[in-house]
Amino acid sequence: MSKRGGKMRCTWFNKTFDQRREAVRELEGDLRIGLTEGEFDIAYQPLVDANCGSIVAVEALLRWERQDGKKIGPNEFIPVAEESGIINPIGLWVLRKAVCDALRWGNVTLSVNISAAQLRNPEFPIKLGEILEETGYPPHQLELEVTETCLVLDPVVAERSLDVIRGFGVRISLDDFGTGYASIGFLRQFRFEKLKLDRSLVVQAGEDDGSRAMMLSSIALARALKMDVTAEGVETTEQADMVRLAGADQIQGWLYYKAMPAEEIDALITKQDAAASAIANSNGEQA
Ligand code: C2E
Ligand code: MG
Ligand code: MG
Ligand code: MG
Repeated sequence: MSKRGGKMRCTWFNKTFDQRREAVRELEGDLRIGLTEGEFDIAYQPLVDANCGSIVAVEALLRWERQDGKKIGPNEFIPVAEESGIINPIGLWVLRKAVCDALRWGNVTLSVNISAAQLRNPEFPIKLGEILEETGYPPHQLELEVTETCLVLDPVVAERSLDVIRGFGVRISLDDFGTGYASIGFLRQFRFEKLKLDRSLVVQAGEDDGSRAMMLSSIALARALKMDVTAEGVETTEQADMVRLAGADQIQGWLYYKAMPAEEIDALITKQDAAASAIANSNGEQA
């Protein structure tokens, strides 16, 4: 077993090339162990309807707690998992577990992040099809989140994979819009079902006119192209009001919910369903 942890703690950019390569190799070994030892888990963050506040979707977010108790965030380990290819088995583990959990959540949509290496892997659509078939999860309730980086590396292969995936009825959303290329061409070429505005754009739009103009025009363009829009990383009521007025359909952010264990989603959805049927019953009595 590799000496776990250690080297990743130093500042990444102070390392020499060899030190970085060594640290990547060590983390990669740890990721492999983590996968077989069951050190991964998924936290789910609800997305709410921008107008009524009810939970309409959840995003699966990978969590890693090593046996020594150290938690490592996805922003730290996903890039290494991608570089080494181990994101492929990890990504399939996430999909399978998330779909099994989400079977309990009625008509709430499930979103799962997909990395570039997965989208480039010709096995991926096949495995996805198998998971849908084995679990019986309704494909139209599954949404895969891709980023522009996923697409720019190899747009032809990406488009082919996305076509197969869409053939199952699965929806595709473009994540983190506003941080990278923010390419209008991609929006047209890939015909995403949903656009997710990155938290940084939401934050900046509350602070300067240029960013606000970009947010407003991104939402307007997405809607004109018949895409749903989610605003990510909403932390204040001012931001929520701003994105709602701008036309966002859903809001995801700590103002409403943080990511939480599956059992807490069970409870939230049970409560929401009970409230909905109480309203339906009292309407029935009135009629
Ligand atoms: P993402 O897909 O854009 O996910 C949203 C991130 O923003 C999550 O961070 C979430 O916890 C965080 N967030 C949500 N609302 C707020 C808010 O109001 N304020 C702030 N400050 N943050 C908020 P997390 O869980 O650390 O994930 C980071 C990134 O790691 C994700 O960004 C995604 O790109 C990647 N990731 C996570 N799970 C997976 C996975 O299963 N597969 C792949 N390929 N990537 C994943
Ligand atoms: Mg995402
Ligand atoms: Mg995002
Ligand atoms: Mg992100």
